[in-house]
Amino acid sequence: MSPVVPLIAEQAEACASVPVLKQRGQREVFCGLTGIVWLHRKIQDAFFLVIGSRTCAHLIQSAAGVMIFAEPRFATAIIDERDLAGLADANEELDRVVTRLLERRPDIKMLFLVGSCPSEVIKLDLSRAASRLSQRFAPNVRILNYSGSGIETTFTQGEDACLASLVPQLPNTDERNLLVVGALADVVEDQVRRLFDELGIAPVNFLPPRRSTELPPVGAHTQVLLAQPFLGDTLAALQARGATRLAAPFPLGAEGTTEWLRAAWSAWGRQAAEPTRFANVVGPKRERAARSLARHRLELQGKRIFFFPDSQLEVPLARFLSRELGMKLVEVGSPYLHRTLLDRELDLLPEGTQLSEGQDVERQLDRCRAARPDIVVCGLGLANPLEGEGMTTKWSIELVFSPVHGFEQAADLASLFTRPLDRRSRLVA
Ligand code: SF4
Repeated sequence: MSPVVPLIAEQAEACASVPVLKQRGQREVFCGLTGIVWLHRKIQDAFFLVIGSRTCAHLIQSAAGVMIFAEPRFATAIIDERDLAGLADANEELDRVVTRLLERRPDIKMLFLVGSCPSEVIKLDLSRAASRLSQRFAPNVRILNYSGSGIETTFTQGEDACLASLVPQLPNTDERNLLVVGALADVVEDQVRRLFDELGIAPVNFLPPRRSTELPPVGAHTQVLLAQPFLGDTLAALQARGATRLAAPFPLGAEGTTEWLRAAWSAWGRQAAEPTRFANVVGPKRERAARSLARHRLELQGKRIFFFPDSQLEVPLARFLSRELGMKLVEVGSPYLHRTLLDRELDLLPEGTQLSEGQDVERQLDRCRAARPDIVVCGLGLANPLEGEGMTTKWSIELVFSPVHGFEQAADLASLFTRPLDRRSRLVA
C-alpha cells in the first residue's frame, strides 16, 4: 500500500547545524487515509467518504474496525472497473452514492470526499464533484474534498490535507484570538482550554472543531499554536488568511507542554502586568507531570531507541524521551523534517543526534540490526519481522491514536515505551 519511490544515493547534509541523512528509497508507511480513524471521532457531525478501491476499504475497516458496531461515520465508495467505462458514469455514481447517504443520514453536516491512489480515482475531479454536490445540498451539508492517496500523503499528512481543506471555510475575524491547530483528544482539549482560561488567554479556538457548525474564525490577528508537527499545509493556508505562527516545541511531556504554553503566554504580553501568574498556574502542573515521569525514567534511562519514519512525531518524541527520560537516540527517522515547524524541537535534541529524512527501508533495517537498539519505533509492517528477530518494538500508530499531549498525559506517553520493554523482559525471564 505504499508507493515505491526510485532509489537515489543517500546523502548526508548539514542543515541548520543538524546533520540529516536524506533517503529516497522504498517506504513502508501508511497512507493519509489512516487519519480518518481519529478525525471522524473528533468532528462529530462529519462523514468521510473515501473514493477508492477495495484495498482502501480494507485499510480503513481494519484500522477502525470497531465502527462496524456503531452508525459509521466513514465508508468507501469503491470505484471499480465497471466505472472505467466512462468518467461521466463514475461522477453519476458518486452523486447517487452521496445523495443516498445524505438522505439516509440527516445527522451528517459535513461530508469529506477523500481521494485515493487508484488511477480511476485520480481521473475523477473530486474538487468539482464537491462543489457540484455542495450546491445541491447547501446549506444543510458542506461538502469538501482532500486527498489521502498514498502517492501524495503519508499517514499523518491525511490530517494536514483534511484541515487545509477546512481553512477556506473558516469565517473571518478582526479580533485577536489564539487558534490551537491539530486534532487533540477531547479530554486533552478540555485540559488545554482550562489552562488558557487560568492564564487569562482568550478567546481560544480549536481546529478541527468538535462540530462542523463551530468553525473557528481566522484573520490578521489570529495567532496559531500548532499541537502537531505535521500540519505544514494547514499552517500555510492559515498564514495566507493573515494568521501568524507562534514558534514553540510541541506539547509532549512536562517540558514540551510548559514551553508550548509559554509561547502563547509570551505572545499575549501578560508578563509585565502579572509576572508570577505563569509560574503559579503552570508550575504545579509541570512538577506533578515531572513526578509522574520519575518511575518511567528509572526504567528508560540509558535505553537506546531507534525511530523508523512514520508519524512525523518522531522529533518531538525523541526530544521528550532523551531530555525527560534519559533515553539514548540511535537514529531519529521522519518521513519529512519540516525544519520551520520543528525549529524549537531541533534545538533541544542532544548534539550529534543522527536524523534521517525519508526512507530507504532496507538500508535503514541494516542500520537498525547493526545497532541492536533496546526499542524500535516503527509502523505495523516492520514491527512483526523485527520482533521475530528478537527486537522490542512500539507501533508508531499507537502514538497518534492515544491521547499523549499535555501534562496529565505525560506519564501515559512514557508508559507507551516502558510497556513493550516490560513485556520483552517478562518473555525473556
Ligand atoms: Fe492503498 Fe492508495 Fe488506498 Fe492508501 S489510498 S489504501 S495506499 S490504494
